[in-house]
Amino acid sequence: MSRIDRLRALLAGKADCALVTDDINRRYLTGMKSSAGYVLVFPEEAYLIIDFRYIEKAHEIVKTCTVLQQEPGVLRQLGSLMRRHGAKTCALESMSLTLQRADTFRKIEGVEFLTDNTLSQALYDLRTVKEPEEIVRIKAAQQIAEEALERLLQTLHAGMTEREVAIELDFNMRRLGAEDLSFETIALTGAHTSMPHGVPDDRVIEPDSFVLMDFGAVVEGYHSDMTRTVCVGTPTEEMREIYHIVRTAQNAGLAAARPGITGRELDAAARDIIRDAGYGDAFGHSLGHGVGLEIHEYPVAAPSRTQILAPGNVVTIEPGIYLPGKFGIRIEDFVQINENGCENLTKIPNTLICV
Ligand code: ZN
Ligand code: ZN
Repeated sequence: MSRIDRLRALLAGKADCALVTDDINRRYLTGMKSSAGYVLVFPEEAYLIIDFRYIEKAHEIVKTCTVLQQEPGVLRQLGSLMRRHGAKTCALESMSLTLQRADTFRKIEGVEFLTDNTLSQALYDLRTVKEPEEIVRIKAAQQIAEEALERLLQTLHAGMTEREVAIELDFNMRRLGAEDLSFETIALTGAHTSMPHGVPDDRVIEPDSFVLMDFGAVVEGYHSDMTRTVCVGTPTEEMREIYHIVRTAQNAGLAAARPGITGRELDAAARDIIRDAGYGDAFGHSLGHGVGLEIHEYPVAAPSRTQILAPGNVVTIEPGIYLPGKFGIRIEDFVQINENGCENLTKIPNTLICV
C-alpha cells in the first residue's frame, strides 16, 4: 500500500478529502521536495498541484498521484477539483497550517474545512513507522556523521575553540556527502558542557576536559542524531564516575527499547539509574525522541508519554547528567525498534573516548 493509500485508510469516514500543504508531509506523500504546493487526496484519486518551478521534476519523479501545474487562481483550481469529486468536507493540517491560510481555504464555497487534529495526527502516525527505504537513508546519514567524528578525533586537541570543533564536524559531514546538517551542531567544552543545548563560542578546550558534541547529517531528507562526550587528555576520577553512570543509564535504555513499551517506561529504564545514583535533578530533559524527515518526531520517550512503541519506530536514547559550573555529559544513540527489540543505528561505541 502506498503512503497515500494508508493515509486514505486513516481518514476514511472522517473527511471527504484532505489538503496537505506542509512541506515535509507533502514530500513524505509524494517524494517531491519543494517549498510550495498542495497534495489533495480523495478516496478515488490524489493530486499534487505544484507551480512552474517544480513541474518538470514532479512529472519525472512523482508516481503515486496525478501531477497538475498550479494555476494562477489556485483556490479556484482546488475548489473545482473538490466539486468534481463531490467533496463536502476537507481535512486541513492543524499542527502546521497558519490561521491565515486556513481562512483563505474557507473562501472555497460548498466545502467545510476541518481543523481538528485528524489529518496532522494521521500523517505523524504514518511517519512514525519507518519503511525499509527510510531506514536505509537514516543509516547513510548516521554513517556520514560517524565518519565525520572519527576524522575530527584524529586532530581534536587542547587549544581548539568550540567553534572550530563545530566547523570541523560540519565540514567533514558536508564533504562526506551530507545534503544538510540535522541542526546547528553543538560543540561545547569545560563548564559549558553543563548546558544541554549550549551554543558554541570562542571558548578554548583546556587540557584534561570534556568536549560534548551533538550533531547529525541529512541524506535525502532523512536526519541522524548523535551525541558523544569525549575527554581531551586525562579525565579525573569524578569525570570517569559520572560518565559511567550516564553510560549505564544509556545501556539500560538500549536494553529496554522494544515493541510494546511506552515512552514513559523507556524513559524510566534509564532515568531510574541516574536517580538511584543521586543525580535525578541533574537529568532535566526527556530520554529521547523520534527522528526522520524532521529531527524531532514521534515517538517521544519522556515521563509524561504513554504512546506505545512499535516496530519501525526510530527513537534516540540520550541520557545526561549536567552539573552547573563543573561539567555535563550526554551520550546519544538512536535505535530502530524491530520485532525482537531494537537495532542500534549508532555504531560508534559509548565507552569514554580519550584523545
Ligand atoms: Zn542530538
Ligand atoms: Zn536528540
